[in-house]
Amino acid sequence: MARTKIVATIGPSSNNPETIRRMLAAGMTVARINFSHGDHESHTKTVQMLREVAQSEGKVLALLGDLQGPKIRLGHVKAGGIQLQLGEEIVLTPHRGQPAMIHLPHPDLIEAVQPGARLVIGDGEVEFTVAEKKDDTLRCMTTVAGLLESRKGVNAPGTDLPVSSLTDKDREDFELICQLELDYVALSFVRTAADIHELHAIMDEKGVQIPIIAKIEKSEAIEHLEEIRDAADGMMVARGDLGIEVQPQEVPLLQKRIIRACNDVGKPVITATQMLQSMVEHPRPTRAEASDVANAILDGTDAVMLSNETASGRFPVEAVLMMKQISEITETAFPYDIWRSRRQAVVTRVASVTEAISAASCSVAEHVQAKAIVSTTMSGHTARQVARHRPPTAVMAVSPLPSTQRRLALVWGVDCVLVPNFTETDEMLEQTAAAMRQFGLKPGDRLVITAGVPFAQMGQTNLIQVHEIT
Ligand code: PEP
Repeated sequence: MARTKIVATIGPSSNNPETIRRMLAAGMTVARINFSHGDHESHTKTVQMLREVAQSEGKVLALLGDLQGPKIRLGHVKAGGIQLQLGEEIVLTPHRGQPAMIHLPHPDLIEAVQPGARLVIGDGEVEFTVAEKKDDTLRCMTTVAGLLESRKGVNAPGTDLPVSSLTDKDREDFELICQLELDYVALSFVRTAADIHELHAIMDEKGVQIPIIAKIEKSEAIEHLEEIRDAADGMMVARGDLGIEVQPQEVPLLQKRIIRACNDVGKPVITATQMLQSMVEHPRPTRAEASDVANAILDGTDAVMLSNETASGRFPVEAVLMMKQISEITETAFPYDIWRSRRQAVVTRVASVTEAISAASCSVAEHVQAKAIVSTTMSGHTARQVARHRPPTAVMAVSPLPSTQRRLALVWGVDCVLVPNFTETDEMLEQTAAAMRQFGLKPGDRLVITAGVPFAQMGQTNLIQVHEIT
């Protein structure tokens, strides 16, 4: 069984019960609902269907709502697009219906960019340099020639946009995410921790708490990486927009840095975009794509993500299965030694009791050759703290909360079993052992159990026990 988790984006290719059933069987653990597409009615139906199928298949499936954020797009360009030549001049205007100009309906972007700024269109098919700003228009030189088409995305690398990363649309979409009680919300185009605080303030007003995944896709976010990591509950290496905002050749090292930042504190990190891109059209990936997935796993990602492959591709089930198979093979050579030495470095500094117990449970499990480390957990925090050390021993969690069980479906290596609430230590041990027997553990097998006493309180882990299944 793969320890790396798989996030699959739901779209026209996968939005039906039979494909979802097969994607679950193939290894999908998290379904991503992309709010850049679809409407509230269709998202509500999708969520209902995903839950029904997961339940009927007896699978744990976390649901991630991904907000669009302030994605900037060109307005309407004449049918068939405009073929631009190198050095050709164009003028961008915020006003519609100016035949000699190109419509960019974002006056705040026009206001923020300065002469010399780069504007990258789509995935880099066309690029401009701003030559002159005149009134509310931009005169630009074409520096990468290509076809300019309607509604293409526009990125202005290095330009700080004075707009919130939560648009009015995002606020409405977040309302639905709350109503549907999704397990995670992903926030796009995060720049600083203030963007995370803004969403937290909305949650406080509503009295809800949904873990936030900060999508790292702006160079400003890289400058504030640690503060964003500390404010959010996890991060996504959103390589699509990140690779436009910075140069593509910078993405591999940034990916490693973002993953490491999350590993260091035990927050889940997703590596996203173009992982098996050629499987949109073909039943097999390129060798380079297979290597890309494997390298993200070796970097320490919690989860690998499929976007177009499962949303609009021809082979959504095969793409999930391929990811699981790459994970299983790569994990046979997982560099546990590197994580073991990092863990030993961690125990030399002051840590919370939960951190200390989680690190110790990994060492004890290896010493006594335990079959599993089992964290009894309310919020999932202790299980994440154990998984953070990537121990070779199986990592299990037991929780009375279905929301915790689902959220742990994003965290590397953790399998969570639901148990009834317990109040006494003996009851906890018995229920934990019973839950582990369901996973095939046998009498004589050892478990390293962590718990918080008194039970049923968050953030209380203070007990570690070696237990032999009888
Ligand atoms: C990305 O840019 O890599 C990403 C995951 O975001 P989106 O698919 O929403 O553009």
